Amino acid sequence: MRKKTVLVTGAGSGIGRGLMCGLAEEGFKVIGTDMNLENARKTADIVRQNGGEAEAYSLDMTHDKDLSMLMDELGNRKVDVLINNAGLQHVAPLEEFPDEKWDLLIRVMLIGSARMMKAVLPLMRKNGFGRIINIGSIHSLVASPYKTAYTAAKHGLLGLSKAVALETADCDITVNTICPAYVKTAVVERQIANQARSHKISEDVVIRDIMLKPMPKGAFITIEELTGIVNFLISEAARNITGQTITVDGGWTIR
Ligand code: NAD
Repeated sequence: MRKKTVLVTGAGSGIGRGLMCGLAEEGFKVIGTDMNLENARKTADIVRQNGGEAEAYSLDMTHDKDLSMLMDELGNRKVDVLINNAGLQHVAPLEEFPDEKWDLLIRVMLIGSARMMKAVLPLMRKNGFGRIINIGSIHSLVASPYKTAYTAAKHGLLGLSKAVALETADCDITVNTICPAYVKTAVVERQIANQARSHKISEDVVIRDIMLKPMPKGAFITIEELTGIVNFLISEAARNITGQTITVDGGWTIR
């Protein structure tokens, strides 16, 4: 059987890099994009060193021109699976939130995701198969103070996914959103260090009393878990799962 091709945005670090490596190990061909081409290339190198097939491209999610260049480079090649993963965080009260930062978060995580879907859908339709997996967040479902732009973008992503799921219900394309709570990537490591400094407490206490407190399971979500969920969503067994929110929150939202 032909290997399926997965395109991952924000593949230069954290979850994107982890998904690229994990999915390549599962036998997928992986294409990684990032605004930081060097990091995307590093990810592709890691995949190849482990025996997988990978390519890397430069793509800033806020530049429509980058996207049309990428689609030109890919030509008629199949993208069976799109994973909208690129993202960023900025923490500030709304009244002090720089407008350009606020707009950037929405442009990358909401508008950028819509543009990516728009770009790959015609080929997916033509090929009669497609899986779109958006990386949402616990902040697609709940809010935190000082994370207005992130919360708005990630909530919006859920609505976007549902609408596109309806538009693609006539063929074997599904659109779903995975909503993880904290995954211990470099961004989260930095948040832990910053909070320890600002609250004058140890990093262990930040993890126990702040980060993991809302999660009854008391553990970070791992990239292996996310890879497993993605793999399932791509599989035949999930062909009728569309427009859904897959919440991976250690029980955060059941209280
Ligand atoms: P990360 O910072 O390690 O990776 C994000 C990647 O996105 C980086 O490589 C960065 O270069 C890229 N990126 C940022 N802006 C971009 C742009 N304009 N164009 C193209 N690429 C851009 O972060 P991560 O923790 O791996 O997060 C990945 C995704 O997972 C994000 O959407 C994030 O919101 C989501 N998420 C993360 C967590 C967590 O706890 N780490 C939890 C829930 C959801």
